[in-house]
Amino acid sequence: MNHSALRKQLINTALAMNNSGINQGTSGNVSVRVDEGFLITPSALPYEKCRPQDIVLMDLAGNRQKGGQKPSSEWHFHRDIYLYRKEAGAILHAHPPWCTSLACLGKEIPPFHYMVAIAGGDTIRCAPYATFGTQELSDRALHALEDRNACLLANHGMLCLEKNLQQVLSLAVEIENLARIYGQALQMGKPLLLEQDEMNRILEKFKDYKQQSPM
Ligand code: 13P
Ligand code: ZN
Repeated sequence: MNHSALRKQLINTALAMNNSGINQGTSGNVSVRVDEGFLITPSALPYEKCRPQDIVLMDLAGNRQKGGQKPSSEWHFHRDIYLYRKEAGAILHAHPPWCTSLACLGKEIPPFHYMVAIAGGDTIRCAPYATFGTQELSDRALHALEDRNACLLANHGMLCLEKNLQQVLSLAVEIENLARIYGQALQMGKPLLLEQDEMNRILEKFKDYKQQSPM
């Protein structure tokens, strides 16, 4: 896909992220990998006002195209994920209400439901707190994302990666759904956790399941 089509798709993904209820205002950011590096949403610009030319092109050294808007303040973790996770084609960061509530308690999402395996492991980890827009936050997030496609960020929000923009948005919606169900279950009692063996079985089954879904 050419850059112009990708820029439009990136804006549409950011708009859909807010319309789905998993993010609000100018919080969050979205990016997509291109040959030169990645395209990323600009910092602090409402997605409704964002035009294709406002999307920022950055290389993997962290240089941005001259002129135009400032890139998202979280470009460090977008850049680092593209550098170290070759499978990542798109990245989404949001402040979804239930994910963020758990993250404010410093809680990870344990194997309370088999769908937790959608993020690649038996838990969805919560990265320890670091100031937004810092390399420290990126380092902590990348650690929490080891062998995973998603993590929570303590006192902040959620971060996930996928092959493309469509898949990263659906993963984000699914993670927020899991966080909501876990949060609700916690209000009613003590959720039962699935055993490690069972989660390993689910993780194996998901390999086939994911292959069937369109790229
Ligand atoms: P940006 O507007 O700079 O992308 O920041 C939003 C955000 O969520 C920071 O963590
Ligand atoms: Zn944020």
